[in-house]
Amino acid sequence: MSGGATGPERKLIDTCVHCGFCLPACPTYQLSANEAESPRGRIDLMRRHSDGAIQLDSDFVGHIDSCLGCMACVKACPSGVDYETLIVEARSMIQSSFRRPGRQRLVRKAIFAVMPYPVRMRPLVRLGSLAKRLGAERVAPRLSNGGVAATFASALALLPRMTSSSAPARGRLYAASSPRRGTVGLLTGCVSAVVFGSTEQAAVDVLRAEGFDVLVPAGQGCCGALAEHSGESPLAARLARKLVARLDREQVDAWITTSAGCGSTLKSYDRLLPGEASAAKFSGRVRDIHEFLHQQGLRADYKPLGIRIAYHPACHLANAQGIVDEPLALLRAIPGCEVLLPGQSGTCCGSAGIYNLIEPATAEALGTAKASAIAELRPDVVAAGNPGCLLQIARYSDPGLASAHPVELLARSLAAATASGEA
Ligand code: SF4
Ligand code: SF4
Repeated sequence: MSGGATGPERKLIDTCVHCGFCLPACPTYQLSANEAESPRGRIDLMRRHSDGAIQLDSDFVGHIDSCLGCMACVKACPSGVDYETLIVEARSMIQSSFRRPGRQRLVRKAIFAVMPYPVRMRPLVRLGSLAKRLGAERVAPRLSNGGVAATFASALALLPRMTSSSAPARGRLYAASSPRRGTVGLLTGCVSAVVFGSTEQAAVDVLRAEGFDVLVPAGQGCCGALAEHSGESPLAARLARKLVARLDREQVDAWITTSAGCGSTLKSYDRLLPGEASAAKFSGRVRDIHEFLHQQGLRADYKPLGIRIAYHPACHLANAQGIVDEPLALLRAIPGCEVLLPGQSGTCCGSAGIYNLIEPATAEALGTAKASAIAELRPDVVAAGNPGCLLQIARYSDPGLASAHPVELLARSLAAATASGEA
């Protein structure tokens, strides 16, 4: 086996020594107590498939599909097993060699025909939000018999009632609003670009206040993360190559993303586009916004907000990128805020890219548990550095609980500084 569409490389599979230290960290193993639903069990399935002892059948595919890709196992593994590459390559092999049942094929086709393309997704999201305000959610449970209708019902439940209208303009350079420290580019992605314009605007406001010119290039699209995490490697590579070609010549010190899921893929284009120097160079300049602001050090004047913040560490931030302390430090830099971590804070919320659309039962179990751990803290707002987590947590939380990306809270604190200066 040589990796990619032919499956994970054997030498990568063999780095697992079956110790089992990863089992307590794995949410799907915790829920099922089934070895095949654990990291060790999944790697063993890959090994047995590589040996020719088992076929690429629905049993194998089911256990690989049910992995959240949360990478909690990577953090727990003392042998440094690269599980992320293993699962990406196993999924890529499945997508290229396994014929899924018609209903699954249709669902995946619908998801990937829409989600990576803001121009297609925007009207559907607006329509969905309107339908939700008109009560369409009440009929959604009746659609939960599988297939595209059930996926539509899950998507409807995740959608916010109102979509944000305050996104920064594309094709514009926003000048620093305090002594200049450099120039950064903002990566706007696909889902974020449609649903989380206010997060993008907050990122621009905070970066400007911290002394950075912010370029928001026009014509940028999806980074390929959703596709890569789902085994749609050719689509992911196409999207990544297009993004690099569009942004390659822009003169910025760093490319900033506010999405943890995107960040982990944007930083790994050498895996998606091996041997393509421009992709590796681009990846080297990508920074998650928490990581960047923490590295640079906050200098702006942040005024008290006086709120209780429950912080949920997104898996693709904490586990895949190792960004754990930075978001907490930024939130704690806002005077008057209490920053709290829910119990089992390292457990996935069940969002996981398109997971909550295609594996709704596990996603619901994890989303409900996460929302209840957060509610116990009685916060004013729940914060997370990944758009999918914010949607998932909001879905299972009391509708009165506000949610925000940490950079939005920093921006709100800056706005409070402006308001108090004007008073
Ligand atoms: S990525 Fe998450 S769900 Fe998948 S095996 Fe690892 S810990 Fe379990
Ligand atoms: S993935 Fe790591 S922790 Fe889990 S069984 Fe293999 S070597 Fe042990």
